Amino acid sequence: MTEHVKLLIIGAGPAGYTAAIYGARANLSPVLYEGLQPGGQLTTTTEVENFPGYPEGIDGTALMDDLRKQAARLGADIRRGTIVKAELTAERKVLTTDDGTQIEAEAVIIATGAEAKYLGLPSEQKYRGSGVSACATCDGFFFKGKTVAVIGGGDTAGEEATYLSSICQKVYLIIRKPYMRASKAMVDRVENTENIEILYEHVTQEILGDGLGVTGIRLQDNKQNTTRDVELDGVFLAIGHKPNTDVFKDCVELDEMGYIKTEPGRPHTSVPGVFAAGDVQDHLYRQAITSAATGCMAALDAERYLGTRTF
Ligand code: NDP
Repeated sequence: MTEHVKLLIIGAGPAGYTAAIYGARANLSPVLYEGLQPGGQLTTTTEVENFPGYPEGIDGTALMDDLRKQAARLGADIRRGTIVKAELTAERKVLTTDDGTQIEAEAVIIATGAEAKYLGLPSEQKYRGSGVSACATCDGFFFKGKTVAVIGGGDTAGEEATYLSSICQKVYLIIRKPYMRASKAMVDRVENTENIEILYEHVTQEILGDGLGVTGIRLQDNKQNTTRDVELDGVFLAIGHKPNTDVFKDCVELDEMGYIKTEPGRPHTSVPGVFAAGDVQDHLYRQAITSAATGCMAALDAERYLGTRTF
């Protein structure tokens, strides 16, 4: 049996929940599938200080819980589960969930976000979950009083290194360029944290281990043109993200990095009635507030689209 819904929202980050809030208030009876990580990437962060309205900052998970509760209170039907198959055309939008439910939607908002990238080393794969992580907030606790490395030179790497510096004895921040890409405030913060040692122009060649867990890292020092092994207990990847678009790649147009292409300044995808919001279509800003804003835009444009069609 195929269930019929007016507005289907896929993804439960700031974009998805905001789209659900606007969709519910516009009487579109939105159904939202939360996917594998309800709350999205903000649930893997600690303090969020730049979301307007929280003068003292707010914990990322608490912020997402509040957004979820707000969407539910307004009438959004929020469901556990992921979309595993999508057939999206101007005429017909049919999506299949992981429990086999088929949903025919009149309009769809894709807000599936992006996920952490890995270096692609076999040793990294081998020790994933036993010393290699892409989430300091999730796994930092396991490295209390130990030595770890964070790989990457962006704001995420700076944030992860700072967070870990309060738990771990020592944090190496490994950056492949002679400078950090992160904001000046972040660079100042990591440079002024005593137990963070920044290794510029260092490239990770191998994660070293004893078969059970990580014991070190092999680094190529491009300045000195030497290789050296550093003893440590954990490695945190912070080298950017991959958009979650695999399910939609044959239905909507993607850019060369795999992000959903939208009209400039608008949430419209290449398929009429299908909108994209949040990090799944934004590799530039990637902020909770910009995600929320595009979720709002997607719901408003879905409402306009539905108002001009008869189903
Ligand atoms: P970025 O894309 O900004 O940075 C990725 C970092 O990883 C770069 O330093 C990059 O190096 C490095 N890198 C990429 N691939 C490799 C590799 N194979 N080996 C080694 N290093 C690699 O991602 P972020 O996740 O840091 O940030 C994403 C966006 O979110 C940014 O716009 C950022 O400003 C924002 N953000 C803001 C925060 C805040 O305001 N509090 C917190 C976190 C993120 P290179 O520079 O050489 O390319």
